Amino acid sequence: MAPSARRPKHTPADHVHDAVIVGAGFGGMGAAIALQRLGRDDLAILDREDDLGGTWHVNHYPGLAVDIPSSTYSYSFAPNPYWSRMYAPGPELKRYALHVAEKFDLRRHMRFGAVVTGAAWDEATRTWTATLAGGEQVRGRLLLTATGYLSQPKMPDIPGVEDFAGTVIHTSAWKDDHDLTGERVAVIGTGATAVQLIPEIAPAVADLTVFQRTAIWVTPKSDAAIPRVVQGLYARVPLTQRVVRAVGSTVLEAIMVTGVLKYRQLGRLNRIAEKWATWHLHRQIADPVLRRQLTPDYSFGCKRPTFSNDYFRTFNRSNVHLETNPIERIDAGAVITADGVRHEIDTLVLATGFSLWETNFPALPITGRDGLDLGTFWREQRFQAYEGVSIPGFPNLFSLSSPYSYSGLSYFTTVESQMKHLTRLLQEVDRRGATTFEVSEEANRRFLHAMKERLHSSVFEHGSCGTARSYYFNQHGEATLLRPTSTLNAFREAGRFPLEDYVIAA
Ligand code: NAP
Repeated sequence: MAPSARRPKHTPADHVHDAVIVGAGFGGMGAAIALQRLGRDDLAILDREDDLGGTWHVNHYPGLAVDIPSSTYSYSFAPNPYWSRMYAPGPELKRYALHVAEKFDLRRHMRFGAVVTGAAWDEATRTWTATLAGGEQVRGRLLLTATGYLSQPKMPDIPGVEDFAGTVIHTSAWKDDHDLTGERVAVIGTGATAVQLIPEIAPAVADLTVFQRTAIWVTPKSDAAIPRVVQGLYARVPLTQRVVRAVGSTVLEAIMVTGVLKYRQLGRLNRIAEKWATWHLHRQIADPVLRRQLTPDYSFGCKRPTFSNDYFRTFNRSNVHLETNPIERIDAGAVITADGVRHEIDTLVLATGFSLWETNFPALPITGRDGLDLGTFWREQRFQAYEGVSIPGFPNLFSLSSPYSYSGLSYFTTVESQMKHLTRLLQEVDRRGATTFEVSEEANRRFLHAMKERLHSSVFEHGSCGTARSYYFNQHGEATLLRPTSTLNAFREAGRFPLEDYVIAA
């Protein structure tokens, strides 16, 4: 699989790229950077959107910001000293994506508006063929899918939702030109997106009803503007920002990873986080009924918690109401709750999140050796992927948005450990002058077994998660999204997994 030199300017239909990458977000760009470093410079990065940046291109709802400190939520090898805040606003993330694409000269590989409808392995030519809507085919010696975890918007299955006559906005398709000022607005959902959006729109609207099915744990957010002098220091002495990253990542690892995965041994960490979030709620809300309604009834960590300094206090506003009665139906002008109340509204905001296990694993039909279908395999044989990237029966595929791949700390630690894994493997492939690799069934079984064992200690199995309705769990009730190891372990294993776990062939 010797890497070719440069992509010809006009690629003929039968051209075979070094790799086809699906997704031009931070996952796809990280993969492309790793491949370029290995000398694989003939890449086709395909994305259905009209520009790069993935989730940070698609999402632009009011209040959008990272909820992991920016020093951690960025590539370690491409630090940005100029984040304006500790938690950067969404548009800065989009600018950062543009900067990374320019710095690593990635845009020349990218094609936008390229909706990949399927990809199939051809054993005879040992290549992958991705088919685009419209029928065009793009071929590569490798296929990397970097389609993200939260990329298929979920529409709520509420009777009558399609009958609503006013404006309907899903948060992932925000209508920037729709002015909510003076309107009666309903927000359905109280996940991380709603927590950011609600405080932002509340002052402008005439009336806001928030429909909550499941409360969310919210802790304070240690956010602040980063003064220019500090940004200058980060730029001049990058070590200072690396120290900040290390400290921030360690604290987050304790809250988001260790406390969640080592619940059996360190459940106290979770309970401290619960107390901290409860204290935060009580400091902002005096009404005991409201406090009770906003308090989750499941263990911290069953579902992704979030951070906000102004979410709770927004419910003290006279124009904001929390509605916890279940929604029965929606008609042309109102949301009707089970107690029979009609909540008349002008605009319906769906902060209802994303569909993962039904439509996103995988995000496109992928056909491996002997016609094996990845979606069917995952549904019938359980969700699994060796080290969160490889699946037996699928040669030369790196499936980057796979079960057990997401490092609870940050998407960037996920991406970077995957870059390390694929680098180690492809270096060996090149050293042997080989053309294909495929993880062995035995290695995959061993990894799956190890992950299941580790989950026994987690909050998912030891905590009280029954009422959480968390997208960490798949339709079989298994928590197969997060890699149940420390971030350090993910990095260590990416650099030392046994190469014999792969069948590498000429
Ligand atoms: P989410 O966490 O899945 O929340 C969706 C919300 O909609 C939940 O409250 C859910 O209630 C509710 N919902 C869905 N269907 C419903 C229905 N039929 N009836 C009533 N309620 C319904 O989605 P999200 O808020 O968009 O956040 C998704 C993830 O995106 C977050 O966990 C986070 O990882 C990420 N995110 C990150 C950032 C960032 O800054 N990095 C910002 C925003 C989001 P139930 O809980 O009862 O199902």
